[in-house]
Amino acid sequence: MWPFSRTRPAAAPESTGADSASAASLAALVQALPEPVLVLDRKGTVLFANPPAVAALETEARGQHISVAIRAPAVLAAVRDVLAGEAPQHVEHEIKVPAPKLFGVYVAAIGGMGESPAVLIQLRDLTREQQVERMRADFVANASHELRTPLASLSGFIETLLGAAREDAAARQKFLELMRAQAFRMKRLIDDLLSLSRIEMNVHVRPSSRVDLVEIARHVAEALAGMAKAEDCAIVLDFNEPLVVNGDRDELVQVVQNLVENALKYAGAGKRIELGGGSSEGQVELTVRDFGPGIAEQHIPRLTERFYRVDVQESRARGGTGLGLAIVKHILNRHRGRLIVSSNLGKGSVFTLRLPAA
Ligand code: ADP
Repeated sequence: MWPFSRTRPAAAPESTGADSASAASLAALVQALPEPVLVLDRKGTVLFANPPAVAALETEARGQHISVAIRAPAVLAAVRDVLAGEAPQHVEHEIKVPAPKLFGVYVAAIGGMGESPAVLIQLRDLTREQQVERMRADFVANASHELRTPLASLSGFIETLLGAAREDAAARQKFLELMRAQAFRMKRLIDDLLSLSRIEMNVHVRPSSRVDLVEIARHVAEALAGMAKAEDCAIVLDFNEPLVVNGDRDELVQVVQNLVENALKYAGAGKRIELGGGSSEGQVELTVRDFGPGIAEQHIPRLTERFYRVDVQESRARGGTGLGLAIVKHILNRHRGRLIVSSNLGKGSVFTLRLPAA
């Protein structure tokens, strides 16, 4: 059990002159550390808490019993154990309010300083690591699911061709076409995944060639002329000046192409798409405007998440992978740029790229 009273107020360390001199050095050392650190006496009272600890725990902590400063039974048990002579311990401490946080807590006895100080507690904020780990797990689950769906239908068609449809030429033709569509879907998904990982690997390398976004817009409009014609949609360009940035041309083509393709897929039929832009205060902007159904407000902040779609069935039917805007965001990050989305339901959407001018 807990070897001391929790209710006793914080007392000055009971120590000799030599002890108090070394306690003062320890306090100065703890104060200078960049990581959150607390030092307790044998009674479990916080003797010192450095500024990172005060910020992390959102309480002054000094003078409080550890059970008040950190409300976590695992931490209390670790303090009790190290005071009883056990080895240092690593435990976790999760807080839910005001914002969820996860800390790794290291608890060790401080030897050779007499009665007090007696215990060192170091905190490490693991919140970000935990989030990244969750995102990684979600990503693997989503990617596997997206690949498994076309694979399952391919297997189904193969079984049918080997069985019931073996001698039926018309059915065979139909199934082979369906299989081709599923194989294309898998290829698109794998291409997008590879694209995303290649861009992520280069995220810290800033591209340095000079490219003109207007030339890129023209190139994309030409490349997608066939798709626009099939949707009975006009792509209109309206630029008054070159928009030169430091960038990787292929990647910026991919950005503009993804945005124009999306506009064609989700908003193009029978309408028009406008590409325009300008520059001011060292920034250039390129806008892709459509006059389609628009996107409800609650979806807008999530559009660049991997595999996020407003309507999964519609995206799949139109050959979408749910990765297009995630790729756009990553490429823009690498270019120190950003994507701004605004949309009006029933009226259309505007996707704006903003990049530093060259
Ligand atoms: P996808 O491969 O599904 O097109 P994206 O990441 O490119 O994936 O886009 C995510 C989702 O955003 C799409 O599934 C679609 O629901 C929505 N979206 C993107 N662009 C538009 C647009 N211009 N108009 C309406 N919805 C759009």
